Amino acid sequence: MPRIINLVYFIRFESACREKGVAMHEVVLWVTIAAIAALVAVILLLLRMAMRKRTEALRLNEARLEALARLNEMTGATLREVTDFVLDEAVRLTRSTIGYLAFLNEDETVLTIHSWSRVALEECLMATRPLEFRVETMGLWGEAIRQRRPVITNDYRAADPRKKGYPPGHVELYRHMNAPIFDGERIVALAGVGNKEAEYDETDVRQLTLLTQGMWRHIQCRRVNDALRESAERYRTLVEGVNDAIVTVRDGAFVNCNRKALELFRCTAEEFLGRSPEQFTPPVQPDRRKSGEKIREMITAALAGRTQFSECQYRRCDGTLFQAEVSLNRTEYQGKVELQAVIRDVTERKEMEQLKDEMISAVSHEMRTPLTAVLGFTEFLLTSEVEPEKQREYLRIVYNETERLSELIGNFLDLQRMKARQMVYRLSGVEVRPLLEEAAALFSTAPRKHRVTVQVPPDLPPVRGDEARLHQVLNNLLSNAVKYSPEGSEIVLGARRDADSVTFWVRDEGIGIAPEALDRIFERFYRVDSSDRRMTGGAGLGLALVREIVTAHNGRVWVESILGKGSTFYVSLPIVEGVRGEG
Ligand code: ADP
Repeated sequence: MPRIINLVYFIRFESACREKGVAMHEVVLWVTIAAIAALVAVILLLLRMAMRKRTEALRLNEARLEALARLNEMTGATLREVTDFVLDEAVRLTRSTIGYLAFLNEDETVLTIHSWSRVALEECLMATRPLEFRVETMGLWGEAIRQRRPVITNDYRAADPRKKGYPPGHVELYRHMNAPIFDGERIVALAGVGNKEAEYDETDVRQLTLLTQGMWRHIQCRRVNDALRESAERYRTLVEGVNDAIVTVRDGAFVNCNRKALELFRCTAEEFLGRSPEQFTPPVQPDRRKSGEKIREMITAALAGRTQFSECQYRRCDGTLFQAEVSLNRTEYQGKVELQAVIRDVTERKEMEQLKDEMISAVSHEMRTPLTAVLGFTEFLLTSEVEPEKQREYLRIVYNETERLSELIGNFLDLQRMKARQMVYRLSGVEVRPLLEEAAALFSTAPRKHRVTVQVPPDLPPVRGDEARLHQVLNNLLSNAVKYSPEGSEIVLGARRDADSVTFWVRDEGIGIAPEALDRIFERFYRVDSSDRRMTGGAGLGLALVREIVTAHNGRVWVESILGKGSTFYVSLPIVEGVRGEG
């Protein structure tokens, strides 16, 4: 039937053409031309559409690469700043309206929302709350995790048995797409976008996946870097925090050291590194062995795998010596054999040991003499009938010897405490005049029989010191002045102000000190040997104690003396901060 109708139309059309004098073949020609033109136009249109799509895809790819490049530059940004940036970019690249990012726990059972895109934040009431979801009970949007692949739902409003409904306050979704983020085989996060105007397609999946995978790599990189930095920091604190010098020796030279090593050797890193251990020793050790020989022996044994423990004397960059305990053992660093040494300064401990030895010898020498006297005289007084006059004389001897013994023990204990740094100094501003006057008053009383005078200018600033300890200094100096000068002679206590300090002195008209002894009298147990001095009691600890106290005050003590004429002991102490003067 339609064929008959077509035929009828054709016959009518042909007769109409003939009436108008148009040839049939011309009509066919024009119709063909028109058909071809229409076809070309359609092809061109399709091509243009394909080109536009391709250009758009290229533009999106470019935008994503740009976003990834910017992500790489976000080295100082916080995790939140990074994820916010990526989420906003994901929303922009997929032309969505909302987006979210959630992290999955280790065993992929619980998902915690980490962040929402800015628009979602504005639209969604629940976006401000951190939310946790169990993967097995999640609705349609959990499919991406369960199926371990991106899922597009272009009609989110359509009924689906997997849907569980929105939590209250959730933004209304009409399109949704989400993709799991993998770390190897494991899903670590889920990124989702929604409400694009057009339908989501594979291009969107690619954009979202590549961008969020890039983000994960960035986060991982930062985690590794942070962990590396933290571990390096931890080791640095460990090595720098110890109180011992730690050094590394390779091919006979120091190649690495901690700060304590530089402090101990009083060197800069340039002065220390690159030099050999032998260069930091005196030629001969206290045990009389040649340093070079001893060190080489230790190094050979340590290289053979036998950890070495030894005592060694070292020379600092400023030329001073110190005694140390060394442990040396073999290590390897980047395939190269090295030696690691821990060097502990034992100078103080050695000094304490020496002090103890000295005490033992002091007990045997200095303490025995007064004790023998006390024992002898008391025994005599107990067993014999002695006249009252003689009794008093003997008791005075017993008293003096006991006093001497008590002073000796007191000084010794003080010195030991100071050396062990157990002495606590209570520093405050101390006025010098009352200090000198009190000391003078103590020594002016009978039976000392010396004229003690105080000569101090007015307006002396206070010094920084521990008053009780400064009394101890003055008492020691004054008792020496009394001991070593004749009865009836004058003892002067004076003071002056210097630039940043006050200097006070104790001057006597006594026996004086020979020039060669001047340097030594401040040493422990040093006593100038002469018969007139031997008459006086003492163990040679008083001036050692004076020097310890003054040094602990950041002060200075020295003596000027002329043999047979007298001595002056000077003590200079810093004045209290803020009272610096013209000098
Ligand atoms: P001690 O007086 O107990 O022997 P010190 O340490 O106080 O010990 O003094 C050390 C030595 O210095 C004394 O033995 C003495 O020879 C000398 N000395 C100290 N003060 C004076 C002084 N004012 N005059 C002369 N010699 C002194």
